[in-house]
Amino acid sequence: MRSLWDQVQLLTPGWADLIEIALVAALVYWLLLLLQRTRAMQMILGVGFLAGVYFLARILNFSLISTILEALFQYGAIAALVVFQPELRSALARLGQTQMFRMFAKLESRNVADEVVEAVEQLARTSTGAIIVLENEVGLSEYARTGSAIEARVSREMLTTIFTPYSPLHDGAVIISGDSIKAAGAILPLTQTPLLDKSLGTRHRAALGLAEESDALVIVVSEETARVSVAHGGRLEVGVGVARMRQLIEGALRGPGRAPGLAPAAG
Ligand code: ATP
Ligand code: MG
Repeated sequence: MRSLWDQVQLLTPGWADLIEIALVAALVYWLLLLLQRTRAMQMILGVGFLAGVYFLARILNFSLISTILEALFQYGAIAALVVFQPELRSALARLGQTQMFRMFAKLESRNVADEVVEAVEQLARTSTGAIIVLENEVGLSEYARTGSAIEARVSREMLTTIFTPYSPLHDGAVIISGDSIKAAGAILPLTQTPLLDKSLGTRHRAALGLAEESDALVIVVSEETARVSVAHGGRLEVGVGVARMRQLIEGALRGPGRAPGLAPAAG
């Protein structure tokens, strides 16, 4: 009696089983979504057909056919890894872009911050005028359109190259969204607020103007004084040190809903 009850209990799934089944179902569904309409899907159908033939051959005791198919499956597994290498790679890359992996995206945001901080330090060392805008929740595509569209990963080399004097794109602002540079040479709205420091000209007025109209973080390097200023939330902090700048940039990149690489395309 007791053992019969134990056996029945084996049949009633517990919570852990239900969760596991749900997870596996989700995984299979996700795999099918990934494979849908790819070369892999057609090949899986082919493999499925061969598997059908194999089981039929086993049932009918066609030993030659089943031996050949067994060998085919053994080497086929290795061949599949080679043939599907591009699909596997893109599947793993897409895995890295799902919400589950935002923690890793955080690490990436630190890299973007590093690149921006180092670019700004170098621009300041060489007294190169620059405006770098970090987009937050408010989309900046209307300002990006005033400049030249760019689609490049943020890097210190890219940023310093853009602002090199006399380069075609050095005038105006660079707009960064997530981990990519969206535009250079963008024109920002000038603030109407009078600036107390008379050495601050249109570049600084443009930075403050955008910080008044959006939640963006705008970093300015002065060509005249080599000072770094940061405008955000309608305020302009003049003469910002490296530590403070890094803190502001990392805060901006971690802003609400921000996941580098997942930021919706400006538009
Ligand atoms: P700096 O301290 O570097 O001299 P500044 O605040 O004194 O800066 P200006 O000397 O007037 O400003 O700098 C002019 C430069 O600022 C322009 O060459 C241009 O690159 C940039 N700039 C001016 N107006 C805008 C704007 N509306 N949007 C974006 N960039 C602008
Ligand atoms: Mg000036």
